[in-house]
Amino acid sequence: MAVENLTVEQLSDALKNNEFLFHYQPILSLRTGKIDGVEALIRWKKNNGDLIAPSEFIPFAEETGFITEITKAMIPRFLDDQKSILLANETIVSSFNISAKDLSDDTFIPTLFSLIDDSGIDRSKIKIELTESSALSLSDTGLLQIAELKANNIGLAIDDFGTAHATFDQLRNLPFTCLKIDYSITKDAMATPDGLTLLDHSIKLAHQLKMDSIAEGVDNQDLVGYLMGVGCEHAQGYYISKPLALPTLIEFLNKKLVWRTFIHGHVYKAMVDYIEWVRKVHCSLYMSNANINIVPFEPEDAATGIFLLEVTDSVDIEAYNQLNTVYKNCYEIAKIMLSAKCAGDQALIDKLLPDFFEMSSTVSSLLQEVYSKECQQGLLKQFSFRSTTNGESAQIY
Ligand code: C2E
Ligand code: CA
Ligand code: CA
Repeated sequence: MAVENLTVEQLSDALKNNEFLFHYQPILSLRTGKIDGVEALIRWKKNNGDLIAPSEFIPFAEETGFITEITKAMIPRFLDDQKSILLANETIVSSFNISAKDLSDDTFIPTLFSLIDDSGIDRSKIKIELTESSALSLSDTGLLQIAELKANNIGLAIDDFGTAHATFDQLRNLPFTCLKIDYSITKDAMATPDGLTLLDHSIKLAHQLKMDSIAEGVDNQDLVGYLMGVGCEHAQGYYISKPLALPTLIEFLNKKLVWRTFIHGHVYKAMVDYIEWVRKVHCSLYMSNANINIVPFEPEDAATGIFLLEVTDSVDIEAYNQLNTVYKNCYEIAKIMLSAKCAGDQALIDKLLPDFFEMSSTVSSLLQEVYSKECQQGLLKQFSFRSTTNGESAQIY
């Protein structure tokens, strides 16, 4: 509901009188079980103490273009708050919402950079959120500005994903680092199988686009468990915490709460990455014609990397050692096959291919084994899969 008869003048007065402030909603890492992010959500605190929600004045501010005045004026406030937040927890990355209109103002990005630099806050501790519909309507200049933010190590999230129905191709061309799955998707997820499929697909889409995923509006424990199982990186919602005034947020952070996590979602994600990698290797090989014109294989695109595993004391680490050894061998064979350049090498490829198939299927089944053990018993303390382009050997930590 909008404030009745709202005028630009009222907003302008509110800005002069310092009546806008931020509440912060904590964001949970589903990998570590700890809070590692917050989102700044604006509130209008009137002199009489009334707190007005953004839905009552932000749409009007956007329509009239006054939003840019608000955004610019609120950056110093946001940065000031970050100093206290980072003092309480130095791992926090703070998100700041901007509107598409902000980017049509040429002075916006330079102002943002210089204010961040003056504050002494590391740029990587800041993330900018732009809604899916705004992201889709960006002009070329807007896109360049966004790309500049990313090049300067500032995180970029597509907000309210699912509300504007962007296609894979549209998203692929946007330089964002993170996909925030809208409440409309998470809300229905546990209610129907179709709802779960949509949530699943959104998370997979984020991963295929090499973005992290954040589920918004997470308001129950079952959903948190489900999100961990499908490899979603972050959750935000009332189940974790409502948006909090700054002093309450600091108290909340100081409690250093830890949520119980299962790592199997990340093992699952590694399986998907791995299968995708095998598929790419196969495509590269099969695209070769009789004269062996192999399509160049781009290692930076591949899931070639190392599995980093930290297992609990009770578990036999043999399966993990085996997984890493077979994976490494499989990768070495793929490298030889893919570097084949001349027709004479076809014989070598034919010779190596069966070994490659066999090892690939061993890696897949070992990953499956690790995954199901983790699902049943939570055996892994920590799991990750890191890309490496130099083909270093796999290791266990
Ligand atoms: P948003 O960016 O999608 O922010 C999330 C909204 O969902 C917040 O509402 C938050 O309170 C609410 N929310 C979080 N968890 C739950 C949950 O579990 N269940 C339910 N039902 N709701 C949840 P809020 O603070 O009223 O903000 C509304 C919108 O106003 C924001 O949506 C954002 O689009 C806009 N907004 C807020 N602050 C700013 C700002 O500083 N600048 C701009 N341009 N827009 C802002
Ligand atoms: Ca947002
Ligand atoms: Ca949102």
